[in-house]
Amino acid sequence: MNRESQEFWGVNMILIDDSNSRIHAFANSKYCDDLLKDMKEGQIYEICNFKVKDYLGDEKFRAVRNKKHLFFTPHTKFQQADTIRLNIEKYAFDLFHYDEIDKLEDDNRFLIGVAHLSNYPATRVFINPEHYSVDRLKKSLEEEKIVPEVVFMPNQPKPAEVTKKLLKVKEIKNLPKDFEEGIIYCEVTVKRFMDKSSWYFRKCTGCDLELEVQDAKFKCLRDGGCGRIYPYPEKRFRVGTLCSDETGSIAIIFPDNEITRMIDKTVIDLHAECADEAEEEKFPEILNFLFQTEIYHKP
Ligand SMILES: [Zn+2]
Repeated sequence: MNRESQEFWGVNMILIDDSNSRIHAFANSKYCDDLLKDMKEGQIYEICNFKVKDYLGDEKFRAVRNKKHLFFTPHTKFQQADTIRLNIEKYAFDLFHYDEIDKLEDDNRFLIGVAHLSNYPATRVFINPEHYSVDRLKKSLEEEKIVPEVVFMPNQPKPAEVTKKLLKVKEIKNLPKDFEEGIIYCEVTVKRFMDKSSWYFRKCTGCDLELEVQDAKFKCLRDGGCGRIYPYPEKRFRVGTLCSDETGSIAIIFPDNEITRMIDKTVIDLHAECADEAEEEKFPEILNFLFQTEIYHKP
């Protein structure tokens, strides 16, 4: 539909094949009348005589990440293909790591949506449009003002009351040995970095453990590890520092999420800026900002 004149131009479609590949197709209303009348969403068709074009580079809000798209022509033929019995999914998604979403949102060549699913443990996400919880989610979106129901799974402790306790380094050191883990805050200055050679590590995406190098391969070999081998493992920040306040000094390790939040870059981003592999290992200049910085931190 033309936004200004309200003139009907044609139909945009996403076609999915049996190997779950997707491509965008456009049928112009001028010469695809029969198609517009007879083609039904969700049905399987055999289609022939269409044009394949490369994206020119500036088309915005593409629904799929494919280098080409299809255009139906006056010669395009299609036939319903019920008898083929191919197993073709009704829905397909590109999934991305949550950290990448901000960047993806800036790239307006592609459409992006963010699903906020919060009632399930983070490791379990259901991509199943027929699942009852998706149904419930859809309904709750339609009925406004419904407060999302928070479900505590059995065996999971309720989140502890967050009390912002600001402690001095000396007090942290004097905490009783049986002090239950909890969030405590301290205000310290980063005095120096510990072991600048290991400012990042390679992570097993299966069990979150650090990977070891064995026979020039990255393997998940730590206690309780899954043994998987990764040719291109994920990399995470882990920056060790010594921090002080007027009462003493303490070692604080900055985890990946905090470093990424502060510099708005991932390890891979920094590595992409490197000239070669030797440079990748060097302590990145950008992390020096931490030095002599006063931080408000939960150790
Ligand atoms: Zn593992």
